Amino acid sequence: MSLALNIDHSSAPRPAPSGRTPIVGLSKAEIAGKLGEMGLSERDQRMRASQLWNWVYVNGVTDFDRMANISKGLRAELAAAFDVSRPEIVSEQVSNDGTRKWLFRFRDPEHPNMPPVEVETVYIPESDRGTLCVSSQVGCTLTCSFCHTGTQKLVRNLTAGEILAQVMMARERLGDFPGGVRPTDGLVPAGESRAITNIVMMGMGEPLYNYDNVKKALLIASDGAGLSISKRRITLSTSGVVPKIGPTGDEIGVMLAISLHAVRDDLRDVLVPINKKWPLKELLEACRTYPGVSNAKRITFEYVMLKDINDSDADAKELVRLLAKIPAKINLIPFNPWPGSNYQCSDWDRIESFADIVNRAGYASPVRTPRGRDILAACGQLKSETERLKKKDRDAFML
Ligand code: SAH
Ligand code: SF4
Repeated sequence: MSLALNIDHSSAPRPAPSGRTPIVGLSKAEIAGKLGEMGLSERDQRMRASQLWNWVYVNGVTDFDRMANISKGLRAELAAAFDVSRPEIVSEQVSNDGTRKWLFRFRDPEHPNMPPVEVETVYIPESDRGTLCVSSQVGCTLTCSFCHTGTQKLVRNLTAGEILAQVMMARERLGDFPGGVRPTDGLVPAGESRAITNIVMMGMGEPLYNYDNVKKALLIASDGAGLSISKRRITLSTSGVVPKIGPTGDEIGVMLAISLHAVRDDLRDVLVPINKKWPLKELLEACRTYPGVSNAKRITFEYVMLKDINDSDADAKELVRLLAKIPAKINLIPFNPWPGSNYQCSDWDRIESFADIVNRAGYASPVRTPRGRDILAACGQLKSETERLKKKDRDAFML
């Protein structure tokens, strides 16, 4: 595959004022371009860009001096041009079920004087897989009424490098890079060579409102010469940004999940307010025509179980009816409470009765087991302390 085709100019990096460009998140073509500015021949640009990708993504190297196939002189020049360091970890918590949550701190490479932002990333180990739940934004512009992230105003979009850095850091902490050491507290899947086998864009933020950066990050994550995680093992969840659903299938090609949560527009308008802009009919039409959708590549519909709100048998029957013509999987998510939330999780026998109707319609094992609730790491519980600055203060930092 030609990497030049993947350049996304709207998210192209600009050098930081320090002059050092963060290397994680750059396509090979972008690295080659920078190497051209440093005077390397076209052939060398391509070769060195491939070597750099390999050191960074395959070997997880964070020091140019470890790049043994690059001469000392060039290593020094590279170290002056590029930044290979990792972000700061503010905290790492391990739940009693083995789920792990990190709080990462990122400095804006283009505005190093701006206060840093903080985001959460969660690792969910199971016996046969390990899933990393990655954030795309700090906060969210949307205000789904049952979601903790929705109470944090959008501070900013994460860059492609910051989205990938979450995966790189998690890989490092879980001993996934060559020579790495597995942690002894918490679990990793048995019999897998990697602790992280799957990525879900289900952390903080709406990934399709940060489309260009998410696309760039996921194309590097799935590239065989990059992080090499198959597109079938990457799932992007959206609350329903309809115009970006088609392009997600065409240009990124990952698995899609839809935060449905209600089967009637009047209720979905309240639970997932983006529904007022793109109602159910338009959302489901975009799913029916999702590029690449098939019985082997189904769309996951997420449905949070809210007591006495959306959990009746009639809702379950309508859910099955609505999805009849779409290759679909259904994921019932027991509501995870958070400080100040106004909803309750449906009772267990209600969830079972709802799940029975869904099961009888041919959808297997639809209930998602809550993980990491004790450390506020479960679906919809993520939030960081970072606050949006007033415009006046932002402008002052941007100078
Ligand atoms: N913004 C995207 C990505 C976040 S994914 C989206 O909304 O799809 C997080 C998933 O958890 C979404 O399906 C979201 O609706 C769901 N969720 C949010 N709050 C929750 C809560 N308190 N309990 C259970 N699920 C929740
Ligand atoms: Fe944002 Fe998704 Fe939470 Fe809605 S559910 S507020 S879109 S993060």
